[in-house]
Amino acid sequence: MDKQNNHMENKNPMAVAGVSSGYVNCNDVASKIYEYLDGELTEDKRKAIQFHLDHCAPCVEVFEFENDLRKLVSCKCQEKVPDTLKQRIAAVISMEEQTTKLFYERTNSESDTDS
Ligand SMILES: [Zn+2]
Repeated sequence: MDKQNNHMENKNPMAVAGVSSGYVNCNDVASKIYEYLDGELTEDKRKAIQFHLDHCAPCVEVFEFENDLRKLVSCKCQEKVPDTLKQRIAAVISMEEQTTKLFYERTNSESDTDS
């Protein structure tokens, strides 16, 4: 008669860890990172992301970079920003510009030769 109880043991490990609002993956963290930094998330969601950051090194790197970037943007006193951080941001921005430029050049030339 105790067979019926077996499937009741199928607990979500995240729920056991105290995260009741559901599992968050890396994409969730990336899309919620600004809300997390701004403190706009609910307590449950904030805990879920915190839990993910405690266990996912790549997301911690993204989080720390966004956190540094946020400090730089919110604080206009550029003199106080360390040169290493400025170089890091400049490198990311120029990389994104090149990628965007290449993307548009490619799509433009493709649509030109089409038809
Ligand atoms: Zn992650």
